[in-house]
Amino acid sequence: MKRWPINHLTADDLDAFHSASLPPEARTHLTECADCQAMVSIDRVVVNALATLPSYAPRPDFADRVLTRIRRPEPALVRLLRPALAGRRLALAATVVVAMGTSIIWSLFNRELLLSWVQLAAVETGRAVWLGVRVVATNLTSQPWYLPIREFASSPGRLAFLAGGSFVTYVAALFALRRVLTLPSGPVSHANG
Ligand SMILES: [Zn+2]
Repeated sequence: MKRWPINHLTADDLDAFHSASLPPEARTHLTECADCQAMVSIDRVVVNALATLPSYAPRPDFADRVLTRIRRPEPALVRLLRPALAGRRLALAATVVVAMGTSIIWSLFNRELLLSWVQLAAVETGRAVWLGVRVVATNLTSQPWYLPIREFASSPGRLAFLAGGSFVTYVAALFALRRVLTLPSGPVSHANG
């Protein structure tokens, strides 16, 4: 007599059947269910066919052979140029030292000219910076959101409220970040595990 609900064999039951460890209830069900008997016979055909396929397991030294191919010897050109590169580095350092020395000596003998250049550069830089500040300020004050923000910022109480709110949000975000970054204490199931 069939029990209700009908529990057909699952994929795990099929594996258990092939390894002769099928639970008694499932074994009883198999004797009375034609569907599951058909499924088991088809599954046995598939398993037997799979067993006849050639194995593609790599040889034990497979990983070593791959790694030796990756670790290629240095190209001949690099080996040839290595001493020349070292020499070039030395020449570059010497050039820098000589150039710095020349610059210092020249500066000592042409102080007035150098000072006038520095002053000219400072004046030009200051003018450019001031022009930039004015352009930015003009752009800012012509924005539609400038007036409401200025009105808002004119009240110290509102500013303090805004600063306090920002601080609270910042602290909350810090705690949330710590919570996210804390490692779980229990074991974690792994996709490949
Ligand atoms: Zn069944």
